[in-house]
Amino acid sequence: MTLTVVGSINIDHVIRLAQFPRPGETLTGSDYQIVPGGKGANQAVAAARSGAQTRFIACVGDDALAKPLVEGFAADGINTEAIASIRGVNTGVALIQVNAEGENTISLAAGANGRLTPEQLQHHGAGLACKQLLLQLEIPLETNIAAATQAKAHGATVVLNPAPAQALPDALLSLVDMITPNETEAERLTGMAVHDDMGAAQAAAMLHAKGIHTVIITLGARGVWLSEHGQPGQLIPGFKVNAVDTTAAGDTFNGALLAALQQGQPLMTAVRFAQAAAALSVTRHGAQTSIPYLADIQALLD
Ligand code: ADP
Repeated sequence: MTLTVVGSINIDHVIRLAQFPRPGETLTGSDYQIVPGGKGANQAVAAARSGAQTRFIACVGDDALAKPLVEGFAADGINTEAIASIRGVNTGVALIQVNAEGENTISLAAGANGRLTPEQLQHHGAGLACKQLLLQLEIPLETNIAAATQAKAHGATVVLNPAPAQALPDALLSLVDMITPNETEAERLTGMAVHDDMGAAQAAAMLHAKGIHTVIITLGARGVWLSEHGQPGQLIPGFKVNAVDTTAAGDTFNGALLAALQQGQPLMTAVRFAQAAAALSVTRHGAQTSIPYLADIQALLD
């Protein structure tokens, strides 16, 4: 196994409403869906569908929704041996309300994701003897630090998608080889506004100064700012598509990027592949439902 994803699993409960209810108010929505989500799960699925050999270290609860979720990951070819079922807690849940303007409010119950502790990780330490480790920020910070420390000791490349946006300690950043924030996350990490190339370059420079070799700031429809330490950064435009739902664009980008790197592709080629995958994901609705398969990505690239 060469790629290990350590991260979250959520079940997204989505209700569409004309407007958000005010405190004390009850409103009836027009639509309800249960959708698999969570940044760790989305990225593992994106990597596997892009052709990567993928192992996923995560926790689910002992509720009825967990089993079909894990079966779904296995059907996508993900090694699920290190997905632990934790007694007495719920699988991570996101309650998502979407209004007529397409805005959302999200309430999270981390549930089993909060139980992915460094101790829990020890049960699956073998999975950290990998070539690449992919992390996000929906599990305890100390677990990410422990995972990165162990993977680095095995010579792995550590990739951090620093989402959701938050400031991070050097204890984690110093272990990271490649970081993939979006504009908001880059701003939160560095304090630099990322509105243009100059801002992206300055934010990247600050992250390089923390010891991170490769910085990829994703810029939505504009593409990405790619910066390798000691070299000038550059804007790599994205693919022009008709976007209908940008949910999981970043997750798809990260999983596909790691898959291309696992195939030994050069960084520029891997970024182009990941942008193609992410562009396809925004042409479809939903999170995991929108993540494309290798054949579709290759068709867009040809
Ligand atoms: P996040 O979902 O984490 O906020 P971004 O919105 O920056 O991440 O999107 C990640 C990547 O997905 C972008 O770098 C780009 O390649 C692709 N992408 C996002 N939105 C679009 C779009 N409207 N059209 C084409 N590609 C897009």
